[in-house]
Amino acid sequence: MNVDALVYGPVADPHHAAETIASFGAHCIIGIPTQVLAVATDRTGTKIGKDRIESLLLTTDYVPKAIAETLKKIWGCRVYTHYGMTEMGFGGGVECDALDGYHLREADLYCEVIDPDTGEICSEGISGEIVFTTLTRQGMPLIRYRTGDIARMIIESCPCGSHLKRMEYAEGRRERAVCLGSGGVLKISELDEALFGIQGLLDYRANVSTASDGSFQLHIDVHRSENDWPIHGDMMKALERIGAIRQNVAAGCLKTPIVQFNMEGRWITTGAAKRKSSSPMTPPSEFLLKQLNRDHRSC
Ligand SMILES: [Zn+2]
Repeated sequence: MNVDALVYGPVADPHHAAETIASFGAHCIIGIPTQVLAVATDRTGTKIGKDRIESLLLTTDYVPKAIAETLKKIWGCRVYTHYGMTEMGFGGGVECDALDGYHLREADLYCEVIDPDTGEICSEGISGEIVFTTLTRQGMPLIRYRTGDIARMIIESCPCGSHLKRMEYAEGRRERAVCLGSGGVLKISELDEALFGIQGLLDYRANVSTASDGSFQLHIDVHRSENDWPIHGDMMKALERIGAIRQNVAAGCLKTPIVQFNMEGRWITTGAAKRKSSSPMTPPSEFLLKQLNRDHRSC
């Protein structure tokens, strides 16, 4: 294709990554959503220019829409997302120009949607857990491998004209939720959408613990941009908009969330840490809801 590519690797220093993009003259960037966000909001990253970056490909199992919107605003480019995991051989599906779901790699993977509780195949177009079977792999074939991702197949044909099956955006992994006292379930995807729209927030860690009176306490540790400081009031308003938080605080099952800001300049870890959760859907004593790093499995 006569295209030059630079493999940068995990972003430990957003400023250095932004300088590299500027000097290399990159028109297309592929990366992990929170790391690309850190680069884009860096003082050099914001100056790269709207006419420079033409497209972004964000790659994880679940890309928060709030991050994609922020990146569109900063660089004025098209933002594509990619779905996959290591077990799939990284690539599972990718968006086309229609930006309306992932076209699946059907020549290599056979994807089905099942009821996560019964294992039965869902009716066409109904949301359920994605399972896949590898069709061409010789080394470690997988049969109906359960991803834990909840999504549905799109029945309608795609405006781009492709006949490859399309999967709707995953709602997030099933186990990444914690059951709060009055029955409400708090999902990482809800926290992502509520918090990543806040200016100056680059990532966060959420933790739910049990207080001495038996109620739950949500603690959010915010990692902020070097240039910008998220407003505490905005954080609290964003958290109140989440139904499970609002209802449980009102019912006395959840204390008012505690938000703290991390002032460290260099906070991005370079390892391939995954989001972790303990036993799913159960009231935890100390439940790490989310790690600093997003899930790297598709990278
Ligand atoms: Zn398409």
